[in-house]
Amino acid sequence: MTSPHTYLNHHRERHLQELSEWLSIPSVSALSAHKADTARAAEWLAEALERAGLEHVEVRQTAGHPIVYADHLHAPGKPTVLVYGHYDVQPVDPLHLWTTPPFEPQVRGGKLYARGATDDKGQLFLHIKAAEALLAAGELPVNLKFCIEGEEEVASPNLPPYLAQERERLACDAILISDSSLLEPGRPSICTGLRGLCSLELTLRTAATDLHSGLYGGGVPNALHALVALLATLRDEQGRIAVDGFYEGVPELTADLRAELAKQDVDETMLQGELGLQALVGEAGYTFVERTGARPTLELNGVWGGFQGEGTKTVIPKEAHAKITCRLVGQQDPAQVLERVARHLRAHAGPGAELAIAPGEQAPAFSIDPGHPVLQLAADAYEAAYGTRAIFTKDGGSIPIVAAFAQELRAPVVLMGFGLPTENLHAPDEHFHLDNYDKGLQTIVRYLELLGSQSPA
Ligand SMILES: [Zn+2]
Repeated sequence: MTSPHTYLNHHRERHLQELSEWLSIPSVSALSAHKADTARAAEWLAEALERAGLEHVEVRQTAGHPIVYADHLHAPGKPTVLVYGHYDVQPVDPLHLWTTPPFEPQVRGGKLYARGATDDKGQLFLHIKAAEALLAAGELPVNLKFCIEGEEEVASPNLPPYLAQERERLACDAILISDSSLLEPGRPSICTGLRGLCSLELTLRTAATDLHSGLYGGGVPNALHALVALLATLRDEQGRIAVDGFYEGVPELTADLRAELAKQDVDETMLQGELGLQALVGEAGYTFVERTGARPTLELNGVWGGFQGEGTKTVIPKEAHAKITCRLVGQQDPAQVLERVARHLRAHAGPGAELAIAPGEQAPAFSIDPGHPVLQLAADAYEAAYGTRAIFTKDGGSIPIVAAFAQELRAPVVLMGFGLPTENLHAPDEHFHLDNYDKGLQTIVRYLELLGSQSPA
């Protein structure tokens, strides 16, 4: 019998060989030309899980790409951990910007280059090999389940119904996802919040036709002026969103959370330089990290109307348009926020302006208390591998599937990333640092051991 670490060291070359084999399958979920490849990547994964010693391996067909399930449930009284990840990858164009072909994996300078190397085959592979190593060393310290989809890069249309249908089979005490990044090299972090999202498109009409500004100007409403005036009412001078009830469900930031977020010590001057900003702006009373991670927003994404061609046209536009999105936090309800923004727009539209409002996407926010034991143990596991404890962050982006998992399975989600933000995910020359491959394996093995050493769930 060997220790998991000895096993992983001993088999490292073979494992990397296997990962390269998987990475060479072009499982681009967005392109129908790769449908068979994507199915092949699912089969490859199922075999890898089987070889690792997982049981009940199943490739479930869906209306799109398959979902792969496997489990190992021989740790009675111990927690059950569900690993989620995805075996599909982003398209690879522009192809000419790749140093080596995206589906011919190559190691250069301690990094493994290939499409999917970090997002997400490389990170997901760590969980398979951690399980394999623990099984080779004896038994798994926890009950383990895998639920791996092939449609993450196309918004997971078939996963939510699968989760609802298989809720019992997927029941668990923690959901473990490695599809994110360290804060920076050597600085692990665990994301404890993702913002939700809602969107709408607004059309404002003031006349049946564009009008001549010489004949009518000064006596009729102008759709662009009406729109600009209306949009200006959405925020006050302190950067707060002026929509009635908008902040319902937004948690106040505790002193502990503010201290935790401050650990990210973002260099605001450097950030301004990198982005070409003259100033940082935002809601009064909050830092940049708080504004972008822990507070909700309302942003104009597009505003258009009237004449935009060369030269002058003396026209009074009959209509104007805007696209608006909100990032949401805490318990904000996307449908309710949309409704309230729409009500605000209708109440503040000037005389003679008629509105048409088309609601768009809606996704709830995800957030978890960093004090939860499964998160504290995850930070400990990182510390064992990286020599520094993971800090807890909040990410301003939206990953609807994380909130869906948390809601459907009613279990805490641990976002345990091993990538780096600079690894060109979704871009040419995607890669994964092998240093984080090795430390990731150590972290996961340690984490499962720590979870298993806890008193029964
Ligand atoms: Zn991903």
